[in-house]
Amino acid sequence: MIHRSATMQRTWMLPALLLSALFLMPGCSARNPAIGAAGEVPSRTAPPARNIFLFIGDGMGLAQVELGRALLPEGDTLAMTSLPVTGLVSTHALDRYITDSAAAGTALATGHGTTVGTISMGSRLDTLKTIVEMAESAGMRTGIVTSVGIDNATPACFYAHSPSRKRIHDIARQMVGSGVDYFAGGYAEGNFPLMRARADLDHGDIDSLMQAGGYRIVRNAPELRAVQSGTPVWAYGRYDRNAAMKFAMDAESGEIDLATYTGEGIRLLENPKGFFMMVEGGKIDWACHGNDGAAAAHDVASFDRAVREALAFYRRHPSTTLIVVTADHECGGLSLGNASGGYESRPRLLLNQRVSLERFMDRVATWRSEQRVTFPMALDSLEVFFGLGSPCDSALVLSAGERRELQLEFTASMAPFPAPDTFSPAVSAILNRRAGIGWGSRVHTAVPVPVFAIGAHAGLFSGSYPNTVFGRRLMQAAGFSGATDPHPGEFSPAPARSAP
Ligand SMILES: [Zn+2]
Repeated sequence: MIHRSATMQRTWMLPALLLSALFLMPGCSARNPAIGAAGEVPSRTAPPARNIFLFIGDGMGLAQVELGRALLPEGDTLAMTSLPVTGLVSTHALDRYITDSAAAGTALATGHGTTVGTISMGSRLDTLKTIVEMAESAGMRTGIVTSVGIDNATPACFYAHSPSRKRIHDIARQMVGSGVDYFAGGYAEGNFPLMRARADLDHGDIDSLMQAGGYRIVRNAPELRAVQSGTPVWAYGRYDRNAAMKFAMDAESGEIDLATYTGEGIRLLENPKGFFMMVEGGKIDWACHGNDGAAAAHDVASFDRAVREALAFYRRHPSTTLIVVTADHECGGLSLGNASGGYESRPRLLLNQRVSLERFMDRVATWRSEQRVTFPMALDSLEVFFGLGSPCDSALVLSAGERRELQLEFTASMAPFPAPDTFSPAVSAILNRRAGIGWGSRVHTAVPVPVFAIGAHAGLFSGSYPNTVFGRRLMQAAGFSGATDPHPGEFSPAPARSAP
């Protein structure tokens, strides 16, 4: 931790000693009543996890995990699904059955439920203490890594408090005094001129504020590798118009990927008092909002490579390290199998897609502004970027009906702005359909999300429970006070208003 005193000791030791004494008495149960039926606590005499990784695949339901696996090279598996402990987390917000990343991130970071759009504050706008703040009080170093903007809702929930995720400049400014040792991944969208103009109060340039606050800003992998352990860092490379890293499938050589940010984070954060690092695969969610199966699968694989970095560290420090992988919610209502294909499913057809749907839409926007591309030329592009129309595979041949549909969408999409580009989504939908992929939504869904865990106190994460309980168990594994589950054994989600 930086900028804060490290004098507070973890509150684990005294209760641990008392419990040790209890365990010596004959007939005493070794089960912690706060855990109930959801999982055995390994042994309360075991020391708390000292090095803690929380991986959040934004929008990553079980179908996204499986699609990521299905597109790996033959014989490869995902690291996350190899972890020995599995669980299920329900994701409802206090005020809505289908959550958003702010309410869900708040639950994971603080162990408390809140309303959609709220960043680590309660429904009455009371400030909720985050696991990062607890880790800092315990003298641990902390890191926050994300593939989207560093002030986006999920990472924000781990270092900021705000009544609205939209107050993005104010959220970004809170990085400065957060005490977090390592920020990495995307840039701060809140520092964009438009966002600063919209802010209640322009607090100034975030880069300058961060440097004045003691942070080293690094922009590429060699610079990052040269930073000495213990130096407060904000690392970001190239970023898009939303301050995010590119989709993994669009990344160019030389760009820093999530695994590198994670590996370098481990090097910078490792110290005798331990660390907490949150790593978010944020663009899985963005791909699913666009119903772009290929981009989602490639981002799941990229996220999983970051998990591998943590696993390599775990193998060197198995008794003190905890790795937990989960999601904040599902997105897109992804199904593996669809109504038109029945049992016919070929997810690997998605490997014919060479760029994300978003990147392809940028190309179509250029076509529109230049007005030089004809429909036959567009069809040639579909073969290059999606494999569609290729004579090599009958599953990729376009029917006469599909060509007609695409021609109509193409003509409509070449009309002057603000006519929307309906051509690109239609192309993507054809490839997804042929691959046997189905999408039931363009936003989040309420389906529970998976948990995979390994290491110190990983057993806490088995079973089925709400995301608020997940947050408390993470604190419990770390030995932080205030982690007690106030509703032991009560694992059914109780959304306040709009549950069906
Ligand atoms: Zn989303």
